[in-house]
Amino acid sequence: MSTTVAHADAEQEQPAEMVVQTYRAAVVHEFRVPLSIEDVPAVALAAGQVRVKVEASGLCHTDIHAAHGDWPVRPTPPFVPGHEGVGIVVELGPGVTEVAVGDRVAMPWLGYACGTCDHCVSGWETLCLEQQNMGYSIDGGFGEYAVAYGRYVVKVPEDVDPLDAAPLTCAGVTTYKAVKVAGTRSSDLVAVFGVGGLGHLAIQYAAIAGGRVIAVDIHEEKLELARELGAEFTVNAAKEDPVEAIQRLGGADQAIALAVSPRAFEQAYGSLRRGGTLVFVALPADNEVKLPIFETVLNGITIVGSIVGTRTDLREVFELHAAGKTRVIRETRSLDDVNEAIADVEAGRVAARIVFEL
Ligand code: NAD
Ligand code: ZN
Ligand code: ZN
Repeated sequence: MSTTVAHADAEQEQPAEMVVQTYRAAVVHEFRVPLSIEDVPAVALAAGQVRVKVEASGLCHTDIHAAHGDWPVRPTPPFVPGHEGVGIVVELGPGVTEVAVGDRVAMPWLGYACGTCDHCVSGWETLCLEQQNMGYSIDGGFGEYAVAYGRYVVKVPEDVDPLDAAPLTCAGVTTYKAVKVAGTRSSDLVAVFGVGGLGHLAIQYAAIAGGRVIAVDIHEEKLELARELGAEFTVNAAKEDPVEAIQRLGGADQAIALAVSPRAFEQAYGSLRRGGTLVFVALPADNEVKLPIFETVLNGITIVGSIVGTRTDLREVFELHAAGKTRVIRETRSLDDVNEAIADVEAGRVAARIVFEL
């Protein structure tokens, strides 16, 4: 009974303080059904939370997996996707000290973590079991406003365009981390499988780390873009066997699997030289790959999974971009066209990343 009374009080007080009562957002009501653009009620901020007026929000393939319910752990509809949201802090919940009203922040996949478990305190907050994810377990950036945790947003430097900051918030940090995890060093041959939102940035981070990059995709335009962004070699996997092509070059020291296709993971594995490392990043709905034990053992192959990146990784990503070291290839759309945007990504019709401008 007392909870009900407290709740009623909160309802009476907070709407007056909230900077917004309702806002437009793209909502998933049912898996595999088009998202609906509608007005949703704003919620009062809890301790540690901030309200962000979204300026830009990237469309990651993960949002499409979320809207389809593709993965073993599914989000619960209705929900608002989006984990590349960037915008201005307009309201602070109780106890927020990390950011101020007026700050531009990014709201990444790692929306919340406990801050005290072994993973959190050892620089692996992305493995926290208590984590909540923007656009998946909490409403994300596909709306005019979003609520995030002050401690887990990352400030966007002045000299980074918010439309660039959006793709960097997932595609950037994820591939930056994947290259770190791969251990790329100067002169290593790095095979990047999939030149989409993630891949076009992976090429650049692998080159920054000193690697020589081979980009693999099934669309010729993506390979052209890859060459523009610094790939030394390209392979069209629709026309040529990437395993043979990469082995002819001596085999890859590292291969990064970013294509939404288990077959591409197997090819990435096959493209490695002895002692090579395969980094699993993409998350196809078909959750299985077939890899040989004998060759893995005798060739001393390392296989490692890599999930997004930490707040520190994202700060580094923004720092590199502000210094002019990376290029974000993106096209802007209206959030009203979210369903068409999803269809275009699935068909490979997008140069690299779609960003919704709000
Ligand atoms: P995207 O659709 O923008 O890019 C995928 C690219 O792969 C496209 O260029 C496509 O043409 C290419 N491709 C498709 N089939 C191919 C094949 N057989 N061989 C070579 N290339 C092929 O997707 P994205 O936003 O870059 O995301 C890629 C994947 O990474 C998704 O599954 C996404 O959920 C996942 N992801 C994982 C993390 C993580 O932390 N591990 C983070 C973000 C995204
Ligand atoms: Zn993502
Ligand atoms: Zn934790």
